[in-house]
Amino acid sequence: MTLPDGHYDIAEMDLDELEQTLDGLGKARFHARQLFQWVHRRGIVEFDEMTDLGRDLRSTLATQFQVATPLVVRTERSSDGTTKFLLRLDDGQRIESVFIPDTPSNTVCISSQVGCAMQCGFCLTGRMGIVRNLTAGEIVGQVRVLARELGMLQSRFNIVLMGMGEPLHNYDAVMKAIRILADEHGLAIHPRRITLSTVGVLPGLERLATEPLMPNLAISLHATTAEQRDRLVPINRKYGIVELLDACRRFPLKRRDRITFEYVMLKGVNDSDEDARRLVRLMHGIRAKVNLLPLNEAAGIPYERPDDARVNRFAKILSERGVTVSVRKSRGRDIRAACGQLITESSRQKSPGQMLAGLMPV
Ligand code: SAH
Repeated sequence: MTLPDGHYDIAEMDLDELEQTLDGLGKARFHARQLFQWVHRRGIVEFDEMTDLGRDLRSTLATQFQVATPLVVRTERSSDGTTKFLLRLDDGQRIESVFIPDTPSNTVCISSQVGCAMQCGFCLTGRMGIVRNLTAGEIVGQVRVLARELGMLQSRFNIVLMGMGEPLHNYDAVMKAIRILADEHGLAIHPRRITLSTVGVLPGLERLATEPLMPNLAISLHATTAEQRDRLVPINRKYGIVELLDACRRFPLKRRDRITFEYVMLKGVNDSDEDARRLVRLMHGIRAKVNLLPLNEAAGIPYERPDDARVNRFAKILSERGVTVSVRKSRGRDIRAACGQLITESSRQKSPGQMLAGLMPV
């Protein structure tokens, strides 16, 4: 929790840890709440501006603490209002986060890793390989920065962990981030306003089932047979579709909650009537809703987007058989901010599929 220069990093601390740190330095614990409010609720990271703290305390804090905060390198605004933020982290790595207005709520889409190890066949982020995990502070930091930049610190918004990376491949940092975001002294974002999307890293899913603070769950399914999923979502070779759906059946849901199943539609690959009927059978016994994602095409992605008639026909088969279905309206495609299009510029030029060192394979 200390930065390379020896400062304590408040961004990385939950309230308990901040209290303990202050205590250890002989400062009153209640200042932790004040600090937490300044940083998370008001987006202030300069101690000088924290006016309800005494002058002496402010200057001691400034010598020992910092609040590491991602830096906005560039923003791009789509014609539909979606805004993509390119952020630079303390070590120079870059990530993208996206603001999507009115879906119907305002939504902030954040990253959990730099790059991704999952290598799904249709997703550009996977082309970066995995560079490193984000820390809890960097995950929360994206929300702090976007909310401040967009003037949303006082208003309600949703968060989706659907940016770069596989959240359950960075379990501890993601769950700690959810705890910090939920803290009533900070942004107080209820976990029900947070959706975690995963390809289905089974051990992570099983741990998630036991968490006291439980986000909404979205599963990137994308296929209806083991063979098909092995090809499209390679982690399926390790954690198969049958086991994944079993874990979903067992997943503890509160009354009225449902699991979202994301299904990217690839022309001639997984979009047939038969796929739709198989999907209906797979959903049996699960409180599910299906979200169809017609592929966002990109150079280097060897698949095509089906036409609207095919997507509608697929959706109709599901709904006629009692499966709740929606079609994700793609947002921000003109600025490459749509699902699966997040890849930081320096890596756009690198050779595709380059795997970078650092993380354990899952
Ligand atoms: N790794 C997590 C979080 C990313 S969420 C996960 O896979 O669930 C991003 C969603 O967009 C995932 O469902 C992903 O499969 C989907 N996606 C990826 N590439 C896409 C593309 N080119 N077009 C449409 N959706 C895509």
